[in-house]
Amino acid sequence: MTDKKTRFIFVTGGVCSSLGKGISTASLGLLLEGHGYRVSAVKMDPYINIDPGTMSPYQHGEVYVTEDGAETDLDLGYYERFTGAKLTRKNSVSTGQIYFAVIERERRGDYLGRTVQVIPHITNEIKKRIYDVAAEDDLDFLLIEIGGTVGDIESVPFLEAIRQIRQELGSRRVLNVHLTLVPTITVAGESKTKPTQHSVKELMQIGIIPDLLLCRTARVLSEDMRTKIALFCNVSERNVISAIDIKSSIYEIPYMLHSNGYDEIVLEHFGMEKNHLEIGEWDKFFHAFQNPKRKVHIAVVGKYISLQDAYRSIYEALLHGAVANEAELVLTRIDSEDIEKKQKAGLKALFQKIDGILVPGGFGNRGVEGKIMTIGHARKEKIPFFGICLGLQMAVVEYGRNVCGLERANSTEFDPTSPHPVISLLEEQEIIEKMGGTMRLGAYECQLREGTRVRTVYGQESVMERHRHRFEFTLKYRDAFEKAGMVFGGTHPKTGLVETIEIPGHPWFIGTQYHPEFKSKPTSPHPLFRAFIKAALEAGKAK
Ligand code: GLN
Repeated sequence: MTDKKTRFIFVTGGVCSSLGKGISTASLGLLLEGHGYRVSAVKMDPYINIDPGTMSPYQHGEVYVTEDGAETDLDLGYYERFTGAKLTRKNSVSTGQIYFAVIERERRGDYLGRTVQVIPHITNEIKKRIYDVAAEDDLDFLLIEIGGTVGDIESVPFLEAIRQIRQELGSRRVLNVHLTLVPTITVAGESKTKPTQHSVKELMQIGIIPDLLLCRTARVLSEDMRTKIALFCNVSERNVISAIDIKSSIYEIPYMLHSNGYDEIVLEHFGMEKNHLEIGEWDKFFHAFQNPKRKVHIAVVGKYISLQDAYRSIYEALLHGAVANEAELVLTRIDSEDIEKKQKAGLKALFQKIDGILVPGGFGNRGVEGKIMTIGHARKEKIPFFGICLGLQMAVVEYGRNVCGLERANSTEFDPTSPHPVISLLEEQEIIEKMGGTMRLGAYECQLREGTRVRTVYGQESVMERHRHRFEFTLKYRDAFEKAGMVFGGTHPKTGLVETIEIPGHPWFIGTQYHPEFKSKPTSPHPLFRAFIKAALEAGKAK
């Protein structure tokens, strides 16, 4: 079923990966909203995993979590940060999910004895997922990004499905955008169109004729180049758009694409009104980003520091918080394993120039003791500290060991034989039936107690925040921790589970069991990140 008016914009990628498909899709979403239209986005990932929840950050980068608890590709994070779209598990589709649904139906006998095939059964399921999102919200545009690169075996069913959608709805309702690379041979200084030609040929073999080519390039394509690409790739010259490398920030990309005509050409294709572009909130953010008045030095101490994308939403949220405080974010990424070899003096030297320390979430043993050492240092040296998920859990372990005097306190994730399992699974605490599951995923309510710092920061009695974890604060230790000075400002109303911790008298020491970074946007920075950066700036000034 399709609704009457949603337009579908399909974005495929060619030549190689990492050309910025996700960000350019999110940017187009922002621009179309800026013209007054209602937009949403879907990511289709051709891998066979059901979702990236089980994939290593080395394979996949961050796992982004939606409000309804779907573990998704990090591109959904860009869609939510750039646009007003409210995304759910329906906005993230994988080959695994498609096959799973079709095979379940086959087992139930729904196909009435027919042979179940890629065409039409798999492709129908893909189309149904796309149409369902469009039908649910009253959308003007649905942007659908196909993961991977054209030519990959896995993406063929997705491409076939979008070919069929174009056939069904026609060009007034469908636009095919292809993002390719126009490389420059450094020695000769020449840009090359051949990879783009090959990639488009590959698409055409499947029956998809791109309407618009977004060419990733180091510099604006010359008229000659555009003529050549248009001729060989069968698109109009105007629809060959330069997507120039932007070094300063991804937040500039919407401006670059707009000045190269992207949104205008898209609207022209659909014969839709080009209202005056109005992205005032974004402009305000970008102006502040470009004109910082001071610097703030933040260290992120984790185990996937070498990867660009493992803590993507954390880095973005820190930046939003910094810009909200008119500051330039200077990030130091520290591998928590390296900390384990350090003595007190070494730690002092390492964090000398740091105004605030953040310990992000994580799974598994490696680097955990380094995180605990870092947190102990931040607590004793009064450096503003923000612990997220595993960061909260390790702050509890550190406090348990060094303030409450609980010998060998630990999380049962790392030491199942600890005499003081201050962090443990709900089943170990025998309160599992109240929560009804082992992994807490997605938004849960957090009630904020009067008189606590978190309550002041949020300025609200209750908030919804997103989770992704199995382990929890062990409730039987609550009294011991409170007696030793730790404050539990935020709790889950029905179960009393601990959602936030803080230490009064410290310039800023807060841990959250949830992931506030998933809800921070450039145009509405998360209150906790804003307050953390403010505290870090004050601490920096006092040095
Ligand atoms: N490993 C911890 C847990 O499962 C923390 C998870 C996280 O930081 N996202 O509870």
